[in-house]
Amino acid sequence: MPKPGELTFVAPRGAKKPPRHLADLSPAERKDAVAAIGEKPFRAKQLSQHYFARYTHDPEQWTDIPASSRGKLREELFPELMTVVRHLSTDQGTTRKTLWRLFDGTLVESVLMRYPDRVTMCISSQAGCGMNCPFCATGQAGLDRNLSTAEIVHQIVDGMRALRDGDVPGGTAQASGSGGGPARLSNIVFMGMGEPLANYNRVVGAIRRLTDPEPDGLGLSQRGITVSTVGLVPAIHRFSEEGFKCRLAISLHAPDDELRDTLVPVNTRWKVREVLDAGFEYSAKSGRRLSIEYALIRDINDQAWRGDRLGRLLKGKPVHVNLIPLNPTPGSKWTASRPEDEKAFVEAIAAHGVPVTVRDTRGQEIDGACGQLAATER
Ligand code: SAH
Repeated sequence: MPKPGELTFVAPRGAKKPPRHLADLSPAERKDAVAAIGEKPFRAKQLSQHYFARYTHDPEQWTDIPASSRGKLREELFPELMTVVRHLSTDQGTTRKTLWRLFDGTLVESVLMRYPDRVTMCISSQAGCGMNCPFCATGQAGLDRNLSTAEIVHQIVDGMRALRDGDVPGGTAQASGSGGGPARLSNIVFMGMGEPLANYNRVVGAIRRLTDPEPDGLGLSQRGITVSTVGLVPAIHRFSEEGFKCRLAISLHAPDDELRDTLVPVNTRWKVREVLDAGFEYSAKSGRRLSIEYALIRDINDQAWRGDRLGRLLKGKPVHVNLIPLNPTPGSKWTASRPEDEKAFVEAIAAHGVPVTVRDTRGQEIDGACGQLAATER
């Protein structure tokens, strides 16, 4: 739960768009916004320091800003954005799902996973999702709305503060019996709710806020960020031009158009070949290997011949295949592959010299695992 003084403001009544927040703005826009209310432009940097370097927007802690200015600055640049409804933890507390209520009552989720050697956060880019993949819980509920840049960034700021404050157990300290201890966030995956490339401008804005050096942004490495997409080809082309060093993941799930048309409906618009070519182009521009995500669904897409076909498509390319055992969603007739089928599938891909791993599925008991972020109030 938030500590006293954090995240306790009131939503503007009748507002439709998320209110403007410091994290929506570039450093230059922040200066303009501060000047527009008659404050000295350098206050923008001070506020950025508080938010992006100290993870606080509590005016009580802005001791370098005159008390008489704090209320106005707070109102102008730190409106109520989102509050924590609850945190749910599992894996001895090292996996933590957060349910957020946004200013208009919309619910979204993020997940933090602490490992001995790294910490990954899985964040949402939209409330709901419009891509309609039949095996994904979020896809079943449809799209609610795009998140603003600040709504995306704040999921991370909250996680970084929890890690800094030692609120998330794990790491080597816990192994030696002395509890959590502070940690730094190393990886961010846009694999929570939503299709990030369908909310293009705000996601790109969020990547800038996350990776600009402190205090303009959070100072995280682009190399630690993965953007996962169903394969919106024009948006992938555009993303290739941004000059990012982020990793791109394509949710392929089938090597053939016939099956992919049903598993990832946007495939009826952009085919496997086009999606992969766009991904390879991004890979060439960014210098990063392309990730291919493939949820293994029993007797649907896990036949060894499909593994072989996938291997042929990817042979010799700078890729890595991530197989994800399907997390069955409530009411679905589909389930994860049999162990022997999974093994044969892995071998069929590896036979082409293509690197392939099976992903660990943390957080299943708290519905925090891949494709289960549906944000129903439970
Ligand atoms: N819209 C983006 C990112 C969100 S989903 C995308 O589709 O890539 C992140 C990953 O989880 C995607 O590869 C998605 O296909 C996968 N996924 C969704 N539901 C799943 C489920 N029930 N089991 C396993 N993986 C799932």
